[in-house]
Amino acid sequence: MSSRDRRDAVSCKVCSVSSPHRFTLRNRHGMPDLLDFHICPNCGLTFLGTPISERELAALYDNKNSENHYKAIDPTLNLKMDRVCEDLVDLIETDDSPSVLDVGCGYGHLIEKIENMNLGIKGIGLELPGVRAETCKRQGMQIHTCPLSEVRDSFNGVLMLDVAEHVLNPNGLFKDSRDHLKDGGFLYLHTPRRCFWDSLFLNLVRIPGFRSVSRTWLETRVSTLHLHLWTDRALEISLGKAGFKMIEIQRELELSWPLELYVDSYLGRKLYLPKFMKRLLIPVLRILFIHMRTLRNKAICTAR
Ligand SMILES: [Zn+2]
Repeated sequence: MSSRDRRDAVSCKVCSVSSPHRFTLRNRHGMPDLLDFHICPNCGLTFLGTPISERELAALYDNKNSENHYKAIDPTLNLKMDRVCEDLVDLIETDDSPSVLDVGCGYGHLIEKIENMNLGIKGIGLELPGVRAETCKRQGMQIHTCPLSEVRDSFNGVLMLDVAEHVLNPNGLFKDSRDHLKDGGFLYLHTPRRCFWDSLFLNLVRIPGFRSVSRTWLETRVSTLHLHLWTDRALEISLGKAGFKMIEIQRELELSWPLELYVDSYLGRKLYLPKFMKRLLIPVLRILFIHMRTLRNKAICTAR
C-alpha cells in the first residue's frame, strides 16, 4: 500500500463520519512498523486507522506479561479499587442479591476486593480465555470466557475498568452491555479521555519543531494497546447509540505511577533530557498537572 493510500480518511468507529489522518507513530508492540491515527471532525475521537484484526490483538495481549504490569501499579490499583467499591455502593439501587459483571476482569482483582469488603454484591468476571481467566477460576471466581453477547445472565451493573480503549468495536460492546442489564441497571466505566494536554499536542504534532515532543506525549495515549482516545462527546454519542439515556461523566486525574517515573521514562529516556532538567521539571509539572488540575485524563462514566 502506498503512503498516500495509507493516509486516506477513514470512518469514525463511533459516529461513522469521514475522519482525516492526523499523525503517524512508530509501533512499539510488533507489526506493522507504523501506525496511522485519525481524528473525527464530529465527535473528536482520536483513533487508530491502520487495520488490525481481533486475532492480531488477541496475540498481542497473549504475549504481554500483564502480571508484571499489575505489580508495578499495585498501590494506585488498590486506591482505584477502593474508589470503585464506594461508587458501586452508591449506584446499586436494590437489596435483592445484586450482581455486577466485570468486563475484562484480568486476574480478578476487583472481584476479590468486592468479596473482601463484604458489600453484599456478587462479582462475576468476563475475560478472554487464557492465563488470566484460569487464574480467576483457580481462586473460585465465576468467570465467563465467551463474548459478552453470548453470556446468558443479566446484572445490576456492568463494569469496564480501562477496557473501552482496547476494543475494536466500542459501540457494539456498549450495546451488548446494555442488553445485559436488569431494570434500573447501570454501565460504569473508566477510560482515558482527551485532556487539555492531549488537545495541545494533537495540534502541535503537525508543526515542525514540535513533532518529536508531541509524538512522545501521544505515544503514551494511543497505540495498538490503546486503540482510541475518547472525548466526552464521543463517549456520549457511543453510549447514546447503545440506548443509554442518562450519561454522567466525571473528569479526573489518574496517574498509574509517581510523576517522577513518567518524567524519567518519557522525557529522560526518549527525549534524552539531562538530569538537572528533569529535576527542575518535576515540581513544575506537579503544579500544572495536579494542583492546577489541567491533566484530567480519565473519564469515569455512569450510564443508565
Ligand atoms: Zn466520530
